[in-house]
Amino acid sequence: SEYSREDILKSVEEDGIQYVRLQFTDVLGAIKNLELPVSQLEKAMDGEIMFDGSSIEGFVRVEESDMYLKPDLDTWVVLPWTDGIDKTARLICDIYGIDGEPFEGDPRSNLKRMIKEMEEMGYDKMHLGPEPEFFFFKLDKNRDYTTEPNDYSGYFDLDITDTSGRCRREITRALDKMGFEVEMSHHEVGPGQHEISFKYMDALQASDALQTFKLVAKTIARQYDLHATFMPKPLYKQPGSGMHYNVSLFRDGENVFYDKNDDFGLSEEMRCFMAGLLDHARGYTAICNPLVNSYKRLASGFEAPRYIAWSGRNRTPLLRIPSSRGAGTRAEVRSLDPSANPYLATAVILGAGLDGIRQKKDLTTPVNENIYEMTQKERQAEDVEDLPTTLYTALKALREDEVIKDALGEHIYEHFVENKTFEWKDYSAQITNWEIEEYLGNY
Ligand code: ADP
Ligand code: MG
Ligand code: MG
Ligand code: MG
Ligand code: MG
Repeated sequence: SEYSREDILKSVEEDGIQYVRLQFTDVLGAIKNLELPVSQLEKAMDGEIMFDGSSIEGFVRVEESDMYLKPDLDTWVVLPWTDGIDKTARLICDIYGIDGEPFEGDPRSNLKRMIKEMEEMGYDKMHLGPEPEFFFFKLDKNRDYTTEPNDYSGYFDLDITDTSGRCRREITRALDKMGFEVEMSHHEVGPGQHEISFKYMDALQASDALQTFKLVAKTIARQYDLHATFMPKPLYKQPGSGMHYNVSLFRDGENVFYDKNDDFGLSEEMRCFMAGLLDHARGYTAICNPLVNSYKRLASGFEAPRYIAWSGRNRTPLLRIPSSRGAGTRAEVRSLDPSANPYLATAVILGAGLDGIRQKKDLTTPVNENIYEMTQKERQAEDVEDLPTTLYTALKALREDEVIKDALGEHIYEHFVENKTFEWKDYSAQITNWEIEEYLGNY
């Protein structure tokens, strides 16, 4: 591992750390924190910090509520926006039960279980390069968020003089100090919409990094009187925020998705992995697009995929193969949005792909036309299925997919479906402004 206890204690001295945050993630993807004065750090590193798991979403009932936090020392990082008597570092933790076993309702421990399955199949790493998009919204005079985007620039516009641009740059600076390799940041298509992409990491690190990324973006945005949101579709008739997942498998430092002897430079293992991603696409959609609002992004075009197909060229289907080869050979999954719990999303994407390899699934032929412009008949002729169009149908598809259920484990699966079914029912019972405007006068 990267950091020993001694390294951490040295960092405490040198950086003048006063507080340590122990961080973990609940089943719905919310970041949870416990803050300790630095005097408690050694106890924390011994895994002796206990907490009550009964009020954490997706954890346990009251009668079995004691849980332990076991920090992963490699996740030690100083929070760059803290200073002086508030100087704070954080550690990401796994959750253990009183029986000393990893807790099966902990999304991070569950992802580790899936990574072990991958290693048992002979792969060292799944590399994951996520591209989270987000919006900056203005705050009002009470510092509550509004629905007014902070800028009206467009795709790749140069906007470094306004607050959005300065804030985005400050976020990349903080990420840099925290060990991210930011590859680029740019304005997205929507007003107030931005993207920051950072270099791929292994599956666990990248999932940790996504949680850190959201925390950093929200924290820094507040300093600029902005609200950063990862809600998938905040504005009607504007693009939503996606979170493409670029994935590849590595063995002995080599990308196993690359095959220099293949006409397209793609290995048989990559084709099988992609076939798995296509076959289980309906099953993993509820995890990768977990909000009622997620489906408003998927329904609206703007390069958000609606159909289960792949292409080497165009950006309309679910999967794309970017043109780079060699170490950069990868599949890009385009359906995910940044409201997904990254630990669960990574686990189901990995599970789907590995199933394709295990079953030696055949990859269908690519669809190189713009799928949006194909008629339903043309799509049927090419066997192109639709992604689920609502949270309800996505949950139904999840219930029918044993591979994806296995990738979540029973505890997480049960809790997720129960919670999201409630969310769907509650939403379905709402009377929206749209209904009032369309119906109240006419009926
Ligand atoms: P796009 O052209 O889709 O906007 P970006 O440049 O925004 O792409 O993001 C590409 C992502 O893919 C980056 O995070 C990059 O590090 C990542 N990436 C590059 N090579 C690999 C690989 N072999 N496996 C996984 N991710 C990769
Ligand atoms: Mg990008
Ligand atoms: Mg983008
Ligand atoms: Mg790009
Ligand atoms: Mg992309």
